[in-house]
Amino acid sequence: MRVALVTVGDELLAGDTVNTNAAWLGRQLTGRGVGVERVTVVPDREGDIARVVNEYRAEYDAVVVTGGLGPTHDDLTMDAVAAAFGTETAECEAVYEWLAADGYAREDLSEGTAHIPSGAELLENPEGVAPGCVVGDVYVLPGVPAEMKAMFELVADRFEGEPTYTETVVADESESSLIDRVAQVREEFDVGVGSYPGETVRLRIRGTDETAVANAAAWLRERVDSAG
Ligand code: ATP
Ligand code: MG
Repeated sequence: MRVALVTVGDELLAGDTVNTNAAWLGRQLTGRGVGVERVTVVPDREGDIARVVNEYRAEYDAVVVTGGLGPTHDDLTMDAVAAAFGTETAECEAVYEWLAADGYAREDLSEGTAHIPSGAELLENPEGVAPGCVVGDVYVLPGVPAEMKAMFELVADRFEGEPTYTETVVADESESSLIDRVAQVREEFDVGVGSYPGETVRLRIRGTDETAVANAAAWLRERVDSAG
């Protein structure tokens, strides 16, 4: 399964908010064996959101959109996702029923709270009042991290891929000096290798064959200067 993430918000582009939603979703999905192939940040602009969602839903098995829900002026995601599907938002009665059960009266809710793309599946928000939804293979989640995480858990089982295994080998050498051994391990074992330099170099070995990953990691550990 291949997935794209679309995170919405001017504050993300400006660097005022760190895009922790993308990082968290990336880890969750990768941990499930799902390939995350795009993370795109778009401004709070309906046309921009709609265009990216439309492009990605054609290309990927699923698209996860976060942010820009709720009824304030800069919350355009529901309208944009509806537009990407050539439809509009409509008031969803089930939102009122769910919120009534949580003690919210219909008249206390801001105008637009219950609007989701017409025909969409409602996702209740376990941590807030802004509903999420699923339209086709597009999952629309809130921007507030705690709300996004709680809502993702409701649909997490729909994201599955081949389990992948990862091992890390830490090398106390320069990255360039490791090139030959990284090339060799990739030739000898059916694994992918990521190289992440810092004070030491972290070599991340990934693959769908657990034994190959373990053997490749052991092979490398014997051949690099270990840190510490
Ligand atoms: P609300 O219903 O409260 O309006 P929302 O779904 O509309 O929520 P936003 O308005 O986009 O979400 O953002 C709400 C809060 O969540 C903001 O403080 C924002 O900075 C934060 N937030 C939004 N997107 C992200 C993200 N990708 N990573 C981390 N924090 C985020
Ligand atoms: Mg908002």
